[in-house]
Amino acid sequence: MKRIALLGATGSIGRQAIEIVSEHPELELVAAASGTQPVDGLAPLTQVGGDLTELLERAEPDVVLNAVVGFAGLPVTLWALEAGVDLALANKESLVAAGELALAAQERGAGLLLPVDSEHSASFQCLEGRDPASVESLVLTASGGPFRGRSADELADVTPSEALAHPTWNMGPKITVDSATLANKGLELIEAHFLFGLSYDRLEVVVHPTSIVHALVRFRDGGALAHLGYPDMRVPISYALTYPERASTPVPSLDLSAGLTLEFHPPDLEAFPLLALAREAGERGGTAPCVFNAANEVAVEAFLEERIRFADIAEIVAASLESLDLSPAADVEELSAADAQTRAFAEGALSRA
Ligand code: NAD
Ligand code: MG
Repeated sequence: MKRIALLGATGSIGRQAIEIVSEHPELELVAAASGTQPVDGLAPLTQVGGDLTELLERAEPDVVLNAVVGFAGLPVTLWALEAGVDLALANKESLVAAGELALAAQERGAGLLLPVDSEHSASFQCLEGRDPASVESLVLTASGGPFRGRSADELADVTPSEALAHPTWNMGPKITVDSATLANKGLELIEAHFLFGLSYDRLEVVVHPTSIVHALVRFRDGGALAHLGYPDMRVPISYALTYPERASTPVPSLDLSAGLTLEFHPPDLEAFPLLALAREAGERGGTAPCVFNAANEVAVEAFLEERIRFADIAEIVAASLESLDLSPAADVEELSAADAQTRAFAEGALSRA
């Protein structure tokens, strides 16, 4: 039996995780939590809001699935890594914001860090057991979102409902907007840097509209390994929860009988400046990824509330990175202060946008 604690149980990832757990008798949901919606009866221990690490202490899980959205998921990530409890990580924002602190905690705790993000689960599978010296680069695929092919001018005034209409993935609102701006792929670049220890010059992003290929790893002999499958998060969720067994899922295997054409294009960094800004923030290091993430969270929420325009999201993130101190955080307190300062700055920038 594997005891699973699920944080973010009412969200898109959380609900799919419950489906996976209910299909596998060897998986037991021992704790479930959400931010605001009720979770009564989902698990023996439940919690709405409050300190998630208290719930984790009581639950004594074998695996923590962090499916909280945003920086709010940080205590969960750090708790699991520090305690050496295996962490199935959907909450990319915590690893982006606190990469160095998280990796230090993992080194002390010595538990597994299993990515749930589809591109990173794919990368993990292509990289597992390989000699790092044989790896040339990692390629993350992006669907391009609902606005693929549009120019910066055509994007200025798109609405939240247009941004929420994702062509291939059905996800929570924050990550769906991030997919429309390509900030999501930017967060994923930084996530991949910390997960796989690859420098940014060995991390590529390519637009692949059908989301069939989730990632590719290029090796020094000219070969590349890719992970293919229908875009369905139940596959990476199940992979992480049943690792290393790779249990079966209800997701069908690729149907090749009708043919399969795979298209790839370079991303348009001018129309989608948040991807380039994220790469810069990652290369810059220190608290730059934390600042990028916090400013983006504030701006996305404001965009969803129709307080700012689509193009303002990137403007607010860029202004935050230009104006704030980006020196490294020595501990969680300093990191949380950088996050809070960025939120205050970005809130101020909203009214000027
Ligand atoms: P969602 O908005 O559907 O769900 C978020 C969950 O987090 C909800 O259960 C909510 O109650 C909980 N939550 C929010 N704030 C909280 C707080 N302060 N304390 C405790 N719980 C809180 O989001 P989602 O789409 O399921 O995404 C969750 C995470 O997984 C995000 O980091 C996202 O980037 C990542 N992810 C999602 C997908 C996907 O297909 N949805 C794919 C890859 C990665
Ligand atoms: Mg992803």
